Amino acid sequence: MKFGGTSVGSPQRIKDVASLVSPRGRNIVVLSAMSGTTNSLIEISDAVKRNDPQLACRLISSLEERYNGVIDELLSDESSRENAREITGNFFNDIRHTLSNPDSPLLEKEIVSRGELISTNLMHAYMHEQGVNSVLLPALEFMRTDEHGEPDAAYIAKHLKSLLEQNPDADLYITQGFICLDHEGNINNLERGGSDYSASLIGAAVMADEIEIWTDIDGMHNNDPRFVEGTKPVRNLHFEEAAELAYFGAKILHPTCILPAKLNNIPVRLLNTMEPEAPGTLIDNNLEQACIKAVAAKDNITAIKIKSGRMLLAYGFLKKVFEIFEKYETPIDMITTSEVGVSVTVDNERNLDRIVEELHRFGTVTIDRNMTIICVVGDLEWQNRGFEAKALDALRDIPVRMISYGGSNYNISFLIRAEDKTRALRALSSEIFS
Ligand code: ASP
Ligand code: MG
Repeated sequence: MKFGGTSVGSPQRIKDVASLVSPRGRNIVVLSAMSGTTNSLIEISDAVKRNDPQLACRLISSLEERYNGVIDELLSDESSRENAREITGNFFNDIRHTLSNPDSPLLEKEIVSRGELISTNLMHAYMHEQGVNSVLLPALEFMRTDEHGEPDAAYIAKHLKSLLEQNPDADLYITQGFICLDHEGNINNLERGGSDYSASLIGAAVMADEIEIWTDIDGMHNNDPRFVEGTKPVRNLHFEEAAELAYFGAKILHPTCILPAKLNNIPVRLLNTMEPEAPGTLIDNNLEQACIKAVAAKDNITAIKIKSGRMLLAYGFLKKVFEIFEKYETPIDMITTSEVGVSVTVDNERNLDRIVEELHRFGTVTIDRNMTIICVVGDLEWQNRGFEAKALDALRDIPVRMISYGGSNYNISFLIRAEDKTRALRALSSEIFS
């Protein structure tokens, strides 16, 4: 059971999570840092790196203040409060120690790791006050990535299993999301939003019956509720559908989280802490046939078109184009081709200038910035008729730069101007879901 930053974002929320998990038995509870904490810790680490110890100290103290307030409100017994203040105080002192070594390459990783260490310790302290025999499983003793930066599934399973075996009498287990060690044993993390990934890796490591991701919305919605009214939660999603949606913008689930669950065929359930009885969204291997499930959008996309007479009837042309993107470590999201040109999209402009410079070798290069990918997800197996037409028809008044269909059985993607996004999402909802 994984709870994100907002689900443990205040003393009351921590108490609510505790009363939600305690009656559920011997589960593994994975926690993020309290909301806002990771951002604050990154700010602190930036101040340390910039050699501004005064600012860093101020930020550290104000965050520590905040946590002392949390402790007072969360715990009622003076001795457990003192105990908790000492534990969090030690974590803040660890952060202060980094001030003497601002050039350490591990600085930011060390500092941000304290967020999850604190939240889990506070939950643990509260559980004990409530008479629940929770056991803390230190993520840094089992969560590890290999030399390619990928989670080391065998290592994780082995070490987690042995930690569980050492604590057979626990009522439940609590562990940190997000943080891990790299293959050299240095502290690291699974990137922003990585607690979902931790939960899924842990679920896979213990072959859980189910992985529950608890947030503050009642599951994945069929469209983006920030832009479209009347969106509804989707009850069931296939792993592939969920992966497309998570990648293309549904903020509720981190895209990396799907793979470990899918590989081990462990259902993932998205649930709402504010409404624990609501059914949420179940993600598994069952595909609802001939049904469009949801629409999502991904912003800050740049389209690159390479037009070249040399592409005509030539082989190996795409390889040469893609090699340039590989060289500059820039992933490509969408691709469309014609006989004399290819368009691709990227969501990262870090090396765009150099990429474009090299692409000029092949022909004319055109760039379109501030674009949005609109992704329509569902059972879009090619022999199903009418779904492409429906989606296209909804977008009849919107200029469409690229269309990608047939790459998988699960989506059609459209590239449009960012300014048309809201209109496009609304049009798709009313055409497809009403
Ligand atoms: N605390 C980390 C973050 O804010 C990880 C997470 O919440 O999933 O990105
Ligand atoms: Mg999250």
